[in-house]
Amino acid sequence: MSYLIENQFVARNGNCNRLTFPILSIKFGISNMAYISQRRVLIKYGRLLYKNGLVAGAQGNLSIRLKDGNILITPAGASKGFLKEENLIVVSLKGKKITGRGEASSELLMHLAVYKHRPEIEACCHAHPPFATAFSAVGRNLPSHILPEVIVVIGEIPLAKYAPPGTSAVPQSIKKLLPNHNAFILQNHGVLTIGRTIEEAYNQMEIVEHYAKIVYIAENIGKLNILNDKEVCRLERLKNSNGRNK
Ligand SMILES: [Zn+2]
Repeated sequence: MSYLIENQFVARNGNCNRLTFPILSIKFGISNMAYISQRRVLIKYGRLLYKNGLVAGAQGNLSIRLKDGNILITPAGASKGFLKEENLIVVSLKGKKITGRGEASSELLMHLAVYKHRPEIEACCHAHPPFATAFSAVGRNLPSHILPEVIVVIGEIPLAKYAPPGTSAVPQSIKKLLPNHNAFILQNHGVLTIGRTIEEAYNQMEIVEHYAKIVYIAENIGKLNILNDKEVCRLERLKNSNGRNK
């Protein structure tokens, strides 16, 4: 007898040294506990979002595109600091729930739009980091062409028009921006970052917030010094040569 775990069959009495799989599978149902390692990764980055003050309460959501094309996403109404493997939800790319006890995140439609329009993207991270969300609250995007590393790693961070959270207006608000950007300020709401891995999506969230904090401090000290066109072109070429052409 075998269990389907992480796209592989693991022999029940074979050489599997990850003994928690069968125990968890029996407790929560085999199909519900598939993709154990991806669940653990999602929980790890949920904890980081919470620990680093990028979300409060039950705010924010994370998702990963699974190898079978389905999406593993955080549940609605749960603190990202205390997620449990068995509470994560698996949905199809059309949004149909496949496994999980509760409801998928209220921003499921936004995540699905990212995966549909950007086939190379494997993870989404949505949070309400204080400095970047403060820019969103006053309807400002973050200025471009200030810090070289932000230009190379993220590029322009556009402001998506306000859309009521949890509605189909959210994916509509980012649709035009999606093809060319990996980080978005959602007006009067928060931030969305996307990546080829969950680590990349999370790191971009940290960078956006760190950058927003620096811009806020810099603007209180003096006038922002904008890099010249020649240097911006050089940095953008570097970005493209690193494979970060979006
Ligand atoms: Zn939100």
